[in-house]
Amino acid sequence: MLSRYLTGENGYRLARAAIASLEEHGCTPNAAAYELFLAYHANTNPALRTEVDRLLNNGATLSDHVCNSLHDRFMGQTDISNHVLKAGGQIAREISGVMEGLENAEARTRAYGAQLEQARSDLGSAENPDDMRNLVDSLVGATGEMARQSRELEEKLSQSAKEVQTLRSELERVQVEAGTDALTGIANRKVFEARFAELAAAQDKGGRPVSVTMADIDLFKQVNDTWGHQTGDQVIRFVASILQRHAPQGALVARLGGEEFALLMPNTEAGQAMAVSDAVRKAVETKRLIRRSSNEELGRITVSLGVAQRVRGETRDGFIERADGALYASKRGGRNQVTLATVDGRGAGAAAA
Ligand code: GH3
Ligand code: MG
Ligand code: MG
Repeated sequence: MLSRYLTGENGYRLARAAIASLEEHGCTPNAAAYELFLAYHANTNPALRTEVDRLLNNGATLSDHVCNSLHDRFMGQTDISNHVLKAGGQIAREISGVMEGLENAEARTRAYGAQLEQARSDLGSAENPDDMRNLVDSLVGATGEMARQSRELEEKLSQSAKEVQTLRSELERVQVEAGTDALTGIANRKVFEARFAELAAAQDKGGRPVSVTMADIDLFKQVNDTWGHQTGDQVIRFVASILQRHAPQGALVARLGGEEFALLMPNTEAGQAMAVSDAVRKAVETKRLIRRSSNEELGRITVSLGVAQRVRGETRDGFIERADGALYASKRGGRNQVTLATVDGRGAGAAAA
């Protein structure tokens, strides 16, 4: 954390240097830019320092936009890995607490067993009702103690399960923040939307074409119903991997939710996007999938796809709706096909495959 570098004289020196850099580059002195330059001067993040030096050597201006994206890239990551490290440490502590509880329980069970064994041999030599009563009393006491300790252990286990659940949700939240979809490891909707905004802005300034493919697994409910959710998840990961393998250079593959994916392609016209999409469709259809848990072969998996090339000035929603319209035309047409959206959005344009 940065704060440990900010004590005493050194802290004032770093703060002054950071403010001087903000002024020098004409950046808005917001918290992110300030933190960025502090980290730069304190050299707490060597990768950040190298990147800033590289930009400055190339004569780049550290505009607000550049500062923000540097902050996202380098500082955001630090926060996230701290979160993950912290959660990892907490999980390790929970687990060692539970292990300790289990070891103690094991020792107590052994002692209880020894006590029963002793009682059995004492039983043979018991000569009068008093001896018998004492024996029974000691067994009742030991059994009661054993039951109490088991309850305690059970409570501890259920408490730990709750803690672990909380930590898992925390990790999931961090993963969403980090832009990664937890199931497949590809980008999530948040990253897709941010990347779309960048590409759309560049295209509207006179840049190159942008296309998108929306893909949805066919009759996926049946996969879940027949093979179970775990195998369904395996199929989702498989489709994600095929999209990644076929994504052109610079394209982004994202899971938008459930069994729906998007492939966002810069510098790509409709024709190329159609060819990529059809290659994806074929690759999914061709691969024979084996269910991990039982080695059985799943039935054929297919995907339907819809492609749209962005019209300049088109909003994200408008663009996605056209691609979705084309996807649904593929579904209506019998699935396992690719449809190109027309500019008026009916998705009834040239259908390939
Ligand atoms: P269609 O060909 O028309 O797309 O039919 P479908 O059965 O694929 O469509 P539908 O949208 O009815 O079903 C999608 C199913 O995906 C429903 C939901 O239970 C399942 N699903 C959503 N997210 C996940 C997930 O993360 N894992 C698994 N295994 N299933 C999921
Ligand atoms: Mg769906
Ligand atoms: Mg589906």
